[in-house]
Amino acid sequence: MENCIFCKIINGEIPSNIVYSDDDFIVFTDLNPKAKLHYLAVPRKHFATLNEMTKEDEQMLGRIMGKIPTLSKQLGLSNGYRLIINQKGETGNDAEQEVMHLHIHILGGEKLGNPNGK
Ligand code: 5GP
Ligand code: ZN
Repeated sequence: MENCIFCKIINGEIPSNIVYSDDDFIVFTDLNPKAKLHYLAVPRKHFATLNEMTKEDEQMLGRIMGKIPTLSKQLGLSNGYRLIINQKGETGNDAEQEVMHLHIHILGGEKLGNPNGK
């Protein structure tokens, strides 16, 4: 997808610190980390949000989730981690998704506090 930062990272047009890569997705460090360790797991296929997901995408996302437990150990997250998907909606962007290429934040490496509730 033209003008998509994450597609450009996947294609190697923009440099990034890739820590894992397979046929389904790549994982790289976030440019502006919100925790001591902050990775982004990004499907190679461009789709903006979960709203555009197909049956095939569901299976691919399942495979990605299945790899995260093993990956987390390699990435220094044996003490636990937090996964976040910021999701733009049809009528607004309450979660403030910034990059319109679906991605899973993987955060950890320190105590994160409990984000439940306000
Ligand atoms: P969102 O708000 O869309 O869920 O998160 C987008 C994330 O992408 C942010 O945490 C931001 O720091 C990260 N990000 C944006 N542009 C780049 C980039 O060019 N390289 C890397 N490594 N991360 C980026
Ligand atoms: Zn993209």
